[in-house]
Amino acid sequence: MKQTSDIEHRTRGDRHVADGPGSQAGVRKRNLALVAHAVAEHGEMSRAAVAAEVGLTRATVSTLVDELLAAGLLVELGTQRPGTVGRPGTALALSDTGPVGLGAEVGVDHLAVCAIDLRGTVRVRARVETANRGRPAPEVLRELAALVRQVTAEAREDGLFPAGLTVAVPGLVGRDRRQVTRAPNLDWEDVPAAEFFDGLTPTATLVDNEANLGALAELWLGGHEGVTDFVHVSAEIGIGAALVVDGRLFRGARGFAGELGHVPVFPNGPRCSCGSRGCLEQYAGEEAVLRSAGIRLDRSDALKALHTAAAGDDPAALKSLAAAGQAFGIALSGAVNLLDPQAVVLGGTLAALAPWLRGALVRELDRRVTDRQWPADAVLVSRLGREGVLLGAAYSVVRDVLDDPQQLRTS
Ligand SMILES: [Zn+2]
Repeated sequence: MKQTSDIEHRTRGDRHVADGPGSQAGVRKRNLALVAHAVAEHGEMSRAAVAAEVGLTRATVSTLVDELLAAGLLVELGTQRPGTVGRPGTALALSDTGPVGLGAEVGVDHLAVCAIDLRGTVRVRARVETANRGRPAPEVLRELAALVRQVTAEAREDGLFPAGLTVAVPGLVGRDRRQVTRAPNLDWEDVPAAEFFDGLTPTATLVDNEANLGALAELWLGGHEGVTDFVHVSAEIGIGAALVVDGRLFRGARGFAGELGHVPVFPNGPRCSCGSRGCLEQYAGEEAVLRSAGIRLDRSDALKALHTAAAGDDPAALKSLAAAGQAFGIALSGAVNLLDPQAVVLGGTLAALAPWLRGALVRELDRRVTDRQWPADAVLVSRLGREGVLLGAAYSVVRDVLDDPQQLRTS
């Protein structure tokens, strides 16, 4: 557990590694983060309200606020004229003109980049459709880096500057979050992905698994009030899942937590690519669902066709999605019984298919979850859908800025 939390706390630049939690610099860093997060959570706040919220004296908060104003993280709203800065009633807000977080995404069939400001608003985005499976990794990453440069240039025209970059990939990522260990749907093995982006932003680029970033997007931007313990399930070719426990991503001992796609549903079922039998992916993976719905796998609009068929009450599509929902329910009942989460969130491409998946899924959970109080309405549908991954990547940079505002100033 300790290793997991260390990862989550690590700052991008590692400049403050020497600042232990008890040192003066460590206390200052923590207090700056407290103030920044308080304003982020409430949107607008007076100094007095911040002091009450974080439990520090007005004088201490004023010093911290001044530092955040100088760093360009905070702005004062409603100041009438120069020289009145610091009046007690002046509302503070996060700046919408300074730093932005950049997120980039390597999909199997697209590349995308976006910039999100400190308030969580998307300011610039770019996307290109491109078949990435089997392309040499350096070629894909250089194309994505060019898209990052394009978004950066547009952001700068609006007076924004990138504070950092997180790249989402459909694969397993090493503990250092710089290396893609394995991405089967791209045919990538041991790709040092982060280094293709170094120098584009003031802090080191991080790489993360798309399912993890999708889950974090639900936590930060999903609009699920008070939901801090959940299993997030998504699908894009493969099935991805991620666990958020007590408001933090649970990565597991080696960072591979969340491989729901290879949880056995029927132990003697068909052989899976992982070498086992009857894995969830064999019943609810994109390929399995399309095949049993009678939709050709090589169609570029296969998912859209599935959606259209289901919306038109096509029997094969409905049957296929209900079977997938049932398989999800069986696999998730293990997770729910084991972890007792507040909710299961259906994200990614599953969000759009939820109308036809959710019924069978809920019935199966209802049958198998031992806690009779576990409510059917705890199966939530993401409002972010396929956008979640990219938003989570960009907003993870914003979270890092709020966690360590000084990093920005010294960079
Ligand atoms: Zn498997």
